[in-house]
Amino acid sequence: MPYQRTALSELLGDFVVYRGLTPQDARLPGLAELRAELGLPEGHLPRKAQADYARVVLRTLQAAQALRTRASLAHLLYIGDTKRNDALTIAGLGDHLPIRGFIAAEAADEPKKVEIRGGVMYANRWGALADFLDWLTQQRYPLDEGTALLLDLDKTAFGARGRNSRVIDSARVAAVRRTVEEALGGAFDEQAFRTAFDELNQQKYHGFTADNQDYLAYICLMVVGGVYQLPELLSDLAAGHLRTFADFIAICARKSIPKRLVPIHQEVFAGFRQGDPTPFKSFRRREYEETVNRMDWLPDDVGEERILAEEIVLTREVMELCRHLLRRGVLIFGLTDKPDEASLPPPELRARGHPPLHRARMKLLGTPLGL
Ligand SMILES: [Mg+2]
Repeated sequence: MPYQRTALSELLGDFVVYRGLTPQDARLPGLAELRAELGLPEGHLPRKAQADYARVVLRTLQAAQALRTRASLAHLLYIGDTKRNDALTIAGLGDHLPIRGFIAAEAADEPKKVEIRGGVMYANRWGALADFLDWLTQQRYPLDEGTALLLDLDKTAFGARGRNSRVIDSARVAAVRRTVEEALGGAFDEQAFRTAFDELNQQKYHGFTADNQDYLAYICLMVVGGVYQLPELLSDLAAGHLRTFADFIAICARKSIPKRLVPIHQEVFAGFRQGDPTPFKSFRRREYEETVNRMDWLPDDVGEERILAEEIVLTREVMELCRHLLRRGVLIFGLTDKPDEASLPPPELRARGHPPLHRARMKLLGTPLGL
């Protein structure tokens, strides 16, 4: 049977904010419009786990609510996939309004586990969204016009964590590889890239890379481009001569950088100094292309296993719950830390019909909840 296909915009319209906190629906205020009112310093971008993030999101949500109804926003719901960040976002929003959250990561080889802590249900099945709805119903939690559901996009609404999330990671790795390859041209060494990337992408280096993919992409470029040799880098890290990405980029700035890498170095260095968490724009634009290219590209008859391994799909359980809540009057709003440059087409691709990720058509895969 052919797969159903749809886009998140079917649920959300343009009620979405990516990392930069600029709503895709131009009628809504975002960080730029709210900065003065909320007393946020110029240039500061609140991140998901921070209290200011909740304040901005809430104001944007209230504006979205006002566009559709006179009922005021009284209750929140949140669906996400990361135990730490999403739980902190839920806690931040919970300082303003009552909230219930659901956080899942599929672990199909383990027995089903569902636990509730501090108003959040944690599960190792996306199918446990049915338990979430039961739990809300038992508590008589209002699911009506006065309620808004904040829906995380990356690895939740699509690329479900533990089920389909490796494809999202593979898009990012492919983007790092292409960025390095295109910057180095004929001097690109695939094996050297793999060795450097696989080594530095490990958790034990998070103190150095800050788990920031822009930083990691830049570091790989400088290593493979011969600015900073890998053995030297690893021994400097081990000896504590080098601790942070700030140290690394400052050292690179003093080294002799090959001419063709200079524009990239300048781009990243300038963004980094301004405190931009996404300073490597050209890498993120490639990430957008690699991500959108992995949506709905395989024929239906290749089998579900291959689709989940090679294609980014919408999470049926999440979509089904959202549709159910939408019918009951709940406002659905997309919220994601995915950088805008990795989510929205640059003008030349937009002109050729490339969509923002929330408008991209994807197959729908998962187990029906039967709502
Ligand atoms: Mg996520």
